[in-house]
Parts: sequence; C-alpha cells; structure tokens
Amino acid sequence: MKKVCVLGSTGSVGKQTLKIIRTLKDVKISILCAHSNYKLLLKQAEEFGVKKLCLTDRNAYLKLPYSQKKIFFSPDEIERIFEHDFDILFVASAGSTAIKLIYKALKLKKTVAIANKEAIVMAGDILIKEAKKEEAKIIPVDSEHSALFQILENFPHKAEGLTITSSGGAIAGANKKSITPQVILRHPVWKMGAKITVDSSTGMNKGLEVIEAHHLFSFPFEKISVILHREAIVHGIVEFKDGSSIAYLSPPTMEIPIKYALTYPEKTFLPEKLNYKNLKFSFEKFPEEKYPCFSLALYAGKKGGIYPSVLCGANETAVQHFLKGKISFYKISQIIEKVLAKTPKIRYSIDGVLEAEKWAKSEAMRFV
Ligand code: NDP
Ligand code: MG
Repeated sequence: MKKVCVLGSTGSVGKQTLKIIRTLKDVKISILCAHSNYKLLLKQAEEFGVKKLCLTDRNAYLKLPYSQKKIFFSPDEIERIFEHDFDILFVASAGSTAIKLIYKALKLKKTVAIANKEAIVMAGDILIKEAKKEEAKIIPVDSEHSALFQILENFPHKAEGLTITSSGGAIAGANKKSITPQVILRHPVWKMGAKITVDSSTGMNKGLEVIEAHHLFSFPFEKISVILHREAIVHGIVEFKDGSSIAYLSPPTMEIPIKYALTYPEKTFLPEKLNYKNLKFSFEKFPEEKYPCFSLALYAGKKGGIYPSVLCGANETAVQHFLKGKISFYKISQIIEKVLAKTPKIRYSIDGVLEAEKWAKSEAMRFV
C-alpha cells in the first residue's frame, strides 16, 4: 500500500489526482492540503477517510468552524505533515509554498511526485542536489517532463537533446490586441487552473518548462528545444547521437502522468487511447517573438541563482492583475521585464529564493 500526502487537492491537478486515486486499490491518502477551499477539502476528507488536513491560507483557516479546527494543521504548522506516515508527497499546489516541504520530504528520502512548476524553477539546483544526495526520487507530473522522464528511464543511452512541445496556448500567437481573461481562459486543448492557462498564452509556461527540464534532467539550456505542436499528442522527444529520436505520444490528459507518478514504475490501465487511424499532427517552429514571456523566462533561467524566483514573483503579480482586468495582456511581460532588470543581490538558498520571490511580487505592484 502506497500512502500519499496530496498538496493542492482542491485545484485542477489535485482533483484529477483524487479521481485517479479513487481507481487505485493500492494507494491511500494520508493527508490532504489546500490553500483556501476548506469546504471541498472537508468533502474530500470524508470521501477518502482522511483524518488530517492542512490549510495554507490564514484567512480561510480562521473561518473554519470550531468543531473542525482540531483536524486541521494551521498555516504555521504545515511541516507537521511529516509527523504522519506517507511515502509520496504529491505536489499539485500552485506557487512556492511547497518548496520547504519538498526539501524536507527529500531529506526524509520520500518520493516527490511534482506537478508544481515554481518549486523546481526557483529552487531546482538545491532540490535536485538533495534528491541525488538522499537517493530520493522526484517523479515529474507536468506532461512534457513525464514524457521525457519515461523515455530517459527506458533508454539509458546518453541523450543528445531534449524537445518539449507547445500547443500554443489559448490564442496560439494570434493578434493579441483585444485579449481579455475570458478569451485566454478558453484553452483549446488543456483544462487547467487560471494562472497556468494565462502562462500558456504568454509563453511563460513553456519558458518555465524549459527551466524545469534543465533541472530535472541536468541538461544544458542549449540542448533543450521547444516546437509548436497544436494537437498536443506528442509531449516530449529525446534525441540520441546516432540520429534517432524517441517521441512520447498520448492523449492530452493529465490523468496519464498523474497515474504514472502514483503507480511508478508500473503502467496501469486507463481507458483513454489514441486512435492512430485518424491521427494527424504537425510540427512548426515555436514562434518565440509572439510569446514575450518565453524569452524572459529563458533569460532568467540562464542567469540562474535568484533570477527565476524574481521571474516567478513578478509573473504571479502581473497575471493576478490581468485576471482581475486591471492590466492588459501586453503589460504582463513589460512588468516582468522591469522587475527582472532590478533584481537585487540575494544569496541563493531556500530562504533566499522565497525572499527574492516576495521582493519581486511587491516590486511588480509598482508597475501595475
Ligand atoms: P489550480 O489553480 O487549479 O489549483 C491550485 C491549487 O493550489 C489549489 O488546491 C489551491 O488551493 C492551491 N493553492 C493556491 N495558492 C496556493 C498557495 N499560495 N500555497 C499553497 N497552495 C496554493 O492550479 P493547477 O491545478 O492548474 O496547477 C497546480 C500546479 O501544477 C501549478 O504549479 C501548475 O503550474 C502545475 N501544472 C498544472 C497543470 C494542469 O493541467 N493544470 C499541468 C502541469 C503543471 P485552494 O483552491 O484551496 O485555494
Ligand atoms: Mg506542461
């Protein structure tokens, strides 16, 4: 029996994770954590018989009915999740809150299944080093990285290059003059949380994914490519030195990488299959010039240190304001660029990346 602690169980990836766990006899949930949605969290706890819960949003925690409080860890007590027994920390939460928990889980040699991008982007060097030191497993859940991970696990020859695909986001680089949050949130392929859906349209998501791939697979940036592939059937490609490549194909659903991470190293049944008879797909050059946040992410990723944390902090503030209708689509990249240009000197460490992100969030407020 594998025991799992799910962070972010109330979000898009979190709910799909619980949907998969419903079908798995050998996986049991030990702890569930969310940020603010305690009503859904309580329902989930009842269904899965979970006795311990955690909320990371202080206001939501204060609103909890008194009778429920004792089964919750408060936002300040989140590290107490480690007092409970679990094998897999499943990170489906948004933002950087999980960084310290991931670090501690790796120190305790637990497996970390990770959908969250920010943690790897901001603290990748530290987390990967810790995982190697403790021989703890990090299993990527982001679809492109799950694809690359599965290829690399099965073809241990030295890879020459990695390619991840981009579906282009909700507007696929079209005229962005009158782009509203409503337009952006209608992604043609993936059903995801609001923030990542905006990131897919600005190019930030793909930029973050290149940084993720750089850390997860210890690959230099020059050897990681992105191609436009609107159908989202091929998720990752690994190139080898004999001129051959191995591509990973699957229907565009997060359920496959989620299930693989939970059942690793086994592959178990899922009903959704590709129909090869009707399969048509294309590859095109990824039009970087139409996705201004993509190059900003690459710039920050290559600079390293706290730059990716500044990128994430500024992006989060800018995207929140775009979603509230307070700034235009274009302004997102402008704000990030201005904040990145003022990146302060902060030592690269777990506390340092969190401090840098916090600084960038408040600095971005000056430009909204
Ligand atoms: P959602 O916005 O749908 O859900 C976010 C989840 O995280 C919710 O459970 C939410 O809790 C919680 N949360 C929100 N803010 C915080 C915070 N400050 N600290 C801790 N938890 C927080 O996001 P997604 O499920 O779309 O994405 C989750 C992560 O997975 C992101 O990092 C995203 O980039 C990554 N990802 C998502 C994919 C997708 O298909 N959706 C694909 C690949 C990666 P509550 O609702 O209770 O407030
Ligand atoms: Mg992805």
